[in-house]
Amino acid sequence: MKVKPFSLSIPFNTEPPSDWKDAWDVQLYVKVEDEKDYGWGEALVAGSGIINSYLSIINDIAIPLLSRVELSEPIDVRTILEKILFSAGNCGVVSGAISAVEMALWSLKARKSNVELYKLIGDKIRDSVKVYASFPRFGKIDDVLIATRKSLERGFDLVKLHQSPSTVLAAVKAIRENYKEVKIAIDLNSPFDNLDVAKEFVDKVHKYEIEWIEEPLWPPNDYDLLSKLTEFSPIPIAAGENEYSLYGFKKLIESGITYLQPDIAKVGGVTKFLEILDLASKYKVRVLPHDRPDASPISLIYTLNIGLVKSQIEMVEYTIADFPNDLFYSLPKFKDGYISPPENLEVVERNIEKYSYKNRLRILHFSDLENKLMRKIT
Ligand SMILES: [Mg+2]
Repeated sequence: MKVKPFSLSIPFNTEPPSDWKDAWDVQLYVKVEDEKDYGWGEALVAGSGIINSYLSIINDIAIPLLSRVELSEPIDVRTILEKILFSAGNCGVVSGAISAVEMALWSLKARKSNVELYKLIGDKIRDSVKVYASFPRFGKIDDVLIATRKSLERGFDLVKLHQSPSTVLAAVKAIRENYKEVKIAIDLNSPFDNLDVAKEFVDKVHKYEIEWIEEPLWPPNDYDLLSKLTEFSPIPIAAGENEYSLYGFKKLIESGITYLQPDIAKVGGVTKFLEILDLASKYKVRVLPHDRPDASPISLIYTLNIGLVKSQIEMVEYTIADFPNDLFYSLPKFKDGYISPPENLEVVERNIEKYSYKNRLRILHFSDLENKLMRKIT
């Protein structure tokens, strides 16, 4: 079996343009190939931007290993790589790189069996999956309003903001004054290391009818702190995009969150994602899968295929940027706030060089970086 990584920079263009335009154009695709068939996968790199760390796992371990080992099922690659790499930690870079290879093996298996991907997972319960508009961070409140108007016109009923802690209240207020009907969620990306400050934020924002607050606390895996906030907050709390192990997801659920947000391109691929859905069912926690809302659709296509067969998935995060239609033979189809995956996941390999990776410093001003040292690095 051959494994081939591709580093890409897919431009992240939105209208209006966002503050994250130059931070989200970093993608790592993986192609697996045997004598007859092939499949594509993706690791989520945008966020940290450290693509070479992920590549080292593909180049140093996955490529030589898969050239020697016969795998019978996609999960085998996860099981083996988790054991080989556990002393480097089975989260973050390690599980992200595993995700890309494991996912690719699923689409290879689907191609070999000549069926659509979802059929390998279960019986279809729907033709499309509900999505919400996940905004990038905008520099101006007016741009948040323009993006909200455009999203409503396209058929979304829920928008999620990624504004900084210092501008999000003004943005929410402005949306509410102009668009009473829209549902609003707030993604904070873990700014508050103080429970009282987090509670104060909840109190201030509560009157604007918020669907959920996502990752309010720093660090994101402090389950004790989180449980104190979930107990206090009348607004549902969501988290999970920075969780990797089943044990971690269990702790997160037990901290009282309302929505679980696993990311298939971070946790270790399809099999791990399915195990997390089972766990969510056991605890009756609701699932809103995370998908980095950049301009790359591969991991989304996997999440959507699972969404066609798994009822636990209520709604999926969705980008407001367009996917590059010269890089894929077919793309997910959006209609009135719902989306269906393409029948096949096929990258137009000859066009990859149009999106060749651009190496530069990418710092995503998540969290409260606006207030600290990183503000100077722009
Ligand atoms: Mg998020």
